[in-house]
Amino acid sequence: MLNLKKNTSFINGQWLMSQTNTYPVFNPANAQEVSQVLKCGAEETEQAIVAADHALATWKTTLAAERSQVLRRWGELMLEYRQQLAEILVEEQGKPLAEALGEVAYAASFFEWFAEEAKRNYGDIIPTFKAQTKIMVTKEPVGVVAAITPWNFPLAMVTRKVAPALAAGCTMILKPSEETPLSAFALAVLAEQAGVPAGVFNIVSGNAIEIGKTLQSSEKVKKISFTGSTATGKLLMRQAADTLKKTSFELGGNAPFIVFEDADLEAAVQGAMASKYRNTGQTCVCVNRFYIHEKVYESFIELLSAEVKKLKVGQGFVDGVTQGPLINQAAITKVQRHIDDALAKGGSIVTGGKPHQLGGLFYEPTIIQHANDQMLVAHEETFGPVAACFSFASDEEAIALANNTQYGLSAYFYTKDLKRTWWVAEQLQVGMVGINEGIISTAVAPFGGVKESGFGREGSKYGLEEYQNIKYILLGGLA
Ligand code: ADP
Repeated sequence: MLNLKKNTSFINGQWLMSQTNTYPVFNPANAQEVSQVLKCGAEETEQAIVAADHALATWKTTLAAERSQVLRRWGELMLEYRQQLAEILVEEQGKPLAEALGEVAYAASFFEWFAEEAKRNYGDIIPTFKAQTKIMVTKEPVGVVAAITPWNFPLAMVTRKVAPALAAGCTMILKPSEETPLSAFALAVLAEQAGVPAGVFNIVSGNAIEIGKTLQSSEKVKKISFTGSTATGKLLMRQAADTLKKTSFELGGNAPFIVFEDADLEAAVQGAMASKYRNTGQTCVCVNRFYIHEKVYESFIELLSAEVKKLKVGQGFVDGVTQGPLINQAAITKVQRHIDDALAKGGSIVTGGKPHQLGGLFYEPTIIQHANDQMLVAHEETFGPVAACFSFASDEEAIALANNTQYGLSAYFYTKDLKRTWWVAEQLQVGMVGINEGIISTAVAPFGGVKESGFGREGSKYGLEEYQNIKYILLGGLA
């Protein structure tokens, strides 16, 4: 049995030793310290860049089949260590154990998928424009990649980047969220075991700003792949301009969930529960705005409220718990601010609406009715367990409301009408649409947004391209 509990960064196949400069990682469920973690900065980041650059020379020339085998093994190991990984997730992130086990499987699926895609990295032969020549198109790894990931899915947001990057032949420096670095460290233990060569996957955790600047100013780093807030994404894009890095940004969302008058309400409520309250509302594809046709508004809220009352809030290891704590005090403050603002502007509470009696970072699952477009919940991502319910009268109005946001990540709608299905799916300004489905994330489909939710796609056949450059080769002098 491997020990997955590490508390330090991983560079060039080595676990950093110096423990003089550390910072605490807390369990959001009880404010207890889970571990002290080495705080890295510019110096360690430089070392990681050198290591990744050095390792690139060999890794990019390995056979796709060899890279595929290593990635497949890494994913298998995740499943062998599923329980241990899930426990680390619960401790540092707070999600219920069942969700944590789900995240491990989801995270591992990216290794399986990209182990397969690595082998199908085909180029093109194009009918040529000139006699005695041939045109070929090949795909090459972009080189050293920097990945910056958030705390809401501490494993899956990492594997979604590292699996395609390594499949393409790139090497990586990962800066995980300083709030949840332990899951990333555990992943590195398994990387070693799977046979990922030294320097191919490096982790630097600590001072985000310093690490970020060092990665971004380096000419050796050719690409940045970021998942996090839109504000940080904009900053990172500006920083990436100086060295013209290739970029992929998966940023904030403000997902609408439209329930038309002909919808199967029971199914819509099931979808709403899964999409809104998963991870205590802390996912970028969580519903932020429910638009309910006025004819079914009251029935929908009644059914939703009955389900919300069944949710069990508590510590992630407690049996039957479905709602963990929020990640930190800032998250609680934002949830409360959105609710207070909605109440001041004409909304009312159906259920919840205040901190949970467990105290700390626990908050009651909440439904707000009579929401309107003036409220903060209409325009900002709440990132918490708050369902704001708006009503609408026509399809055109629903679309206009749904699109009235700077974000464009995911959208959901429920209807049985075929004509409406196609029209609405086309009108929605988003990267992903769930129709009569509340959960859309999978390794086999392209995940990503439009507008200020970013660009680039993760997972699917498109996910590999984010880590590749296309090369056109004109071969002349032929017979
Ligand atoms: P969230 O609000 O979800 O924490 P952030 O965008 O702040 O979203 O954080 C996502 C990731 O971005 C984390 O790993 C965080 O450390 C990192 N991050 C935040 N600010 C910077 C920065 N200035 N430079 C580099 N990374 C940053």
